[in-house]
Amino acid sequence: STTAPPGYLEALNPEQRAAVEHGAEGGAPGAPLLVIAGAGSGKTNTLAHRVAHLIVEGADPRRILLMTFSRRAASELSRRVERIARRVLGEGAGALADALSWAGTFHGIGARLLREYAEQLGLDPAFTIHDREDSADLMNLVRHELGFSKTETRFPTKGACLAIYSRCVNAECSVEEAIGHAYPWCSSWVDELKRLFGAYVEAKQRQNVLDYDDLLLYWAGAVAHPEIAADMGERFDHVLVDEYQDTNRLQSTILRALKPEGRGLTVVGDDAQSIYSFRAATVRNILDFPSQFSPAAQVITLERNYRSTQPILAAANGVIGLAKERFTKNLWTERASGVRPRLVAVRDEADQARYVVEQVLEKREEGAALKQQAVLFRTSHHSGPLELELTRRNIPFVKFGGLKFLDAAHVKDLLALLRFVENPRDRVAGFRLMQLLPGVGPTSAQRVLDAVEQAADPLAALQGAPPPPRSGADWPGFLGVVADLRTGRAGWPAEMERARTWYEPHLERVHEDAAARQADLVQLEQIAGGYPSRERFLTDLTLDPPDATSDQAGPPLKDEDYLILSTIHSAKGQEWKSVFLLNAVDGCIPSDLGTGSSAEVEEERRLLYVAMTRARDDLHVITPQRFFTHGQASRGDRHVYASRTRFIPGDLLGHFERIAWPAADASPAATASRTLPRVNLGGQMRGMWR
Ligand code: ATP
Ligand code: MG
Repeated sequence: STTAPPGYLEALNPEQRAAVEHGAEGGAPGAPLLVIAGAGSGKTNTLAHRVAHLIVEGADPRRILLMTFSRRAASELSRRVERIARRVLGEGAGALADALSWAGTFHGIGARLLREYAEQLGLDPAFTIHDREDSADLMNLVRHELGFSKTETRFPTKGACLAIYSRCVNAECSVEEAIGHAYPWCSSWVDELKRLFGAYVEAKQRQNVLDYDDLLLYWAGAVAHPEIAADMGERFDHVLVDEYQDTNRLQSTILRALKPEGRGLTVVGDDAQSIYSFRAATVRNILDFPSQFSPAAQVITLERNYRSTQPILAAANGVIGLAKERFTKNLWTERASGVRPRLVAVRDEADQARYVVEQVLEKREEGAALKQQAVLFRTSHHSGPLELELTRRNIPFVKFGGLKFLDAAHVKDLLALLRFVENPRDRVAGFRLMQLLPGVGPTSAQRVLDAVEQAADPLAALQGAPPPPRSGADWPGFLGVVADLRTGRAGWPAEMERARTWYEPHLERVHEDAAARQADLVQLEQIAGGYPSRERFLTDLTLDPPDATSDQAGPPLKDEDYLILSTIHSAKGQEWKSVFLLNAVDGCIPSDLGTGSSAEVEEERRLLYVAMTRARDDLHVITPQRFFTHGQASRGDRHVYASRTRFIPGDLLGHFERIAWPAADASPAATASRTLPRVNLGGQMRGMWR
């Protein structure tokens, strides 16, 4: 280490610098550290500087575990670390990005560690991972097997079953508690649900699959054994977590098991931005950190916001200031500006879309790239009318948090093949594939899969199973591709081509737009090329699939310009020059999908706060007077009249510039109401024959 502070430290304010340098001398692990601070105060930036500084000080990047909420956020963080460290280490930092290999999401890191420790844990390391849809399919299968779906017509749907199960696991609570107030109609099924969940767990184990929740659950289970916890914990000198307010109890259990005294542990977050309690995240994790690691824990708060202009910050502070809980942080900024955030009244969602497009194009004219602008919304389908308008106007966009590239049936089919090759016991994958073969019915598929599941050598069982009647040449074709891929002869990712060649005739039989879908598959092949192995490809894609784009063809090229569309949840941690918030009306924010409990309403308020604090220079909060609701079953789809979100009451209006759009005189409605000549079309028509 050097005597003069490295240049990158000079850009930091004293509190940020304290967090970066905290116990970092020599790169050795220091006392547990919590940075709790408001939006845009530089938490993530500070975390990146801290990691870089640790490395500069001599910490081994291969022994740093860095976790955050999405793979995108993790790779962005790694890139920032590399950029900072390179300024000091120069070319010596060349291999840094690769060396910082333990940067990812909790789930992704969990999957890797579970594979590494599989033998000790009695797991088969070839396990495959089920995404939510696969999990729902398996839950459904088990539901059928137990006969619940037939005799009891009012038994909870597969989605409700999965949601309750997931809540039990993540919040470490009983079925009764999980049902709680969220699923009151399920409370007469507690015994059946318990049986169902037991059978579901057994099915997963027989099939050697883990679902999302299992990745944390098994990880926590593994580190409940002190020897394993110690062994895993010793691999990492530093464990750093961003967005800590959105971790759940299992995640905090895991961290404490890895670092019982908290040495080398750094967590950063903002309690005012906790927005994932519906997935059992608990803000207690961040609030209890100091006492959990008392008296060693250090707490640093940051109060200067570097992101937003003063008027935007004032409006956001106003919104969060009305929250029931008290958030102690007092954010300030030096970014003066005369431009207040806009509160825009429009008639309906069509006008809302036109307003956004008009503004976005105007800002592009003024020099702001599309990428520096984002449109945020509470729920994925809220962007529907805007997507139509953007498509019509040929404006490219990428949508975060909505439909994923991989949700497309044909992409899932091809991935099911890879998954089945990896793990022939994966019944959901196997069933999906066999359904593609025209002569193979569900019953014969089940019969084959039963044999495969029970066999010691599942692949041999598959090859030896009697071909289903009427399956014809498709059956040997199917066995052939599985066997070929299994040998790995073609190598990765070349085997993707073999997989696609097998799949294409099936694709053509089922889908009319086969050509477009084929293009997706070629794209998938290109994505596969970026991964070292089939297993890593499958794991990463299942855990964090690429986002949908305007042309539905996977992630966009690196240097293309495109507008960002994102749910508020997926916008976490990010910032843009301009931000448009759609549907800032009651029923959308707060959403009427919740039960309306006060805790839920408070979470919606924090959500609005998160949305507003994404903006650097200008913010447009849009309130359509009518919006379309995709109804709960009872009410159906319909238009409803809406009022401004209750989170911006009259007292706060002074923070906004209020406008109506389109302005009254320019509105198309005004043009339409111009007096038109009266014509007698009927008489004209009759006259033609006289
Ligand atoms: P969020 O709560 O939204 O996750 P955050 O606290 O993580 O926000 P960052 O994203 O790290 O905040 O930083 C917000 C912006 O402020 C970034 O553009 C960052 O580069 C800038 N910034 C942070 N610290 C400083 C600083 N000391 N000097 C100048 N700019 C800074
Ligand atoms: Mg951040």
